[in-house]
Amino acid sequence: MDRVADLVHPTDTAGADVPDCQSCGACCAFSWEWPALIGFGDGAGIPPHLIEDGRMRCEGNRCAALAGTLGEDVHCTVYADRPLVCREFASGSEDCLAVRRHFGFG
Ligand code: SF4
Ligand code: SF4
Repeated sequence: MDRVADLVHPTDTAGADVPDCQSCGACCAFSWEWPALIGFGDGAGIPPHLIEDGRMRCEGNRCAALAGTLGEDVHCTVYADRPLVCREFASGSEDCLAVRRHFGFG
């Protein structure tokens, strides 16, 4: 199987302390404003019912494309077509660690 972190987000961090995205999901449930479609062609391939007002539809702050239990076992159901902002959000980055702390995921 691929590295677990790659299944939700790519990573540009080569160190051994990169968090496991599949047991997290914090950035996908942090803000309804965040998973916006911003690039040309962004959102292509994503089912229309998961898009709302130029961004991923959210239920509260949680992206509707996120499946599973936050902090336990999650995955992105539109991984291959996920928005640009999601592709660029790197596990192990400062922003990643900040949202993890918000949820108490260390
Ligand atoms: S907050 Fe970090 S570790 Fe958690 S899913 Fe997002 S990128 Fe992965
Ligand atoms: S589209 Fe996927 S990677 Fe992006 S916020 Fe939603 S669940 Fe997370």
